[in-house]
Amino acid sequence: MKIAILGTGMVGKTIASRLADLGNDVTIGTRNIEKTLSTDEKDLNGKSSFKEWIDEHSNIKVDTFSNAASNAEIIFNCTSGMISINALNLAGLDNLAGKLLIDIANPLDFSNGMPPSLNPANTDSLGEQIQKAFPETKVVKTLNTMNAYLMVDPSKLKGDHNVFLCGNDSEAKKTTKTILNSFGWKDDQIIDLGDITNARGTEMLLPIWLRLWNALGTPEFNFHIQKN
Ligand code: NAP
Repeated sequence: MKIAILGTGMVGKTIASRLADLGNDVTIGTRNIEKTLSTDEKDLNGKSSFKEWIDEHSNIKVDTFSNAASNAEIIFNCTSGMISINALNLAGLDNLAGKLLIDIANPLDFSNGMPPSLNPANTDSLGEQIQKAFPETKVVKTLNTMNAYLMVDPSKLKGDHNVFLCGNDSEAKKTTKTILNSFGWKDDQIIDLGDITNARGTEMLLPIWLRLWNALGTPEFNFHIQKN
């Protein structure tokens, strides 16, 4: 499949490399190609700069948000949640129309320091805002409730655990489940919460996720839903 990953951070790189290794035609999108390729900054984990990373991944192309989206069948939103709507506007309304957009972003507001707050929350969500701003796009929210390395390889965590998804279009959710299966998620680990308004629920798991990270001293954990 031709897939665009919008976002050059840890999530975008992790999803892009896994999808490319699985044989997909992957382009990673950024605002400014030259600037992104010239930055020496290591990522939050102290790993290689974007240039070093892309040099090690010759099976992934780099392009602008707009070109990446225009050439893709499926798009992943892996941009910073507070500016995701801006980034998607740069990708272009027409380039996103009719396509599946898998939204992994969380609307975390760091303006008042740590821990960040959520904006929007309770009666709205980023997933819904994206769906409203891009009505012809089929938005599916998933994978936003865990660390990037687990998203693409659930077997890295011992024991059972879950991934949530929600969205308005059943075919788009079916395609998303197939992608999750290709990452290693089994059908009974995937919980379909319903329409896109349920993004409120998964985004509002972030305040507890962040506090668990602090309490456990590691991001290597996930939610497991147990029922009778
Ligand atoms: P990030 O640093 O949150 O976002 C990086 C991307 O945002 C870059 O591609 C950057 O574009 C773009 N960006 C920044 N400011 C922009 C602006 N003003 N306009 C347009 N684009 C802008 O990356 P991340 O840490 O990989 O996280 C990506 C998303 O996944 C976030 O929403 C985060 O909450 C969510 N998430 C992260 C994790 C995790 O494990 N880190 C887990 C779950 C969910 P350039 O390429 O042009 O610089």
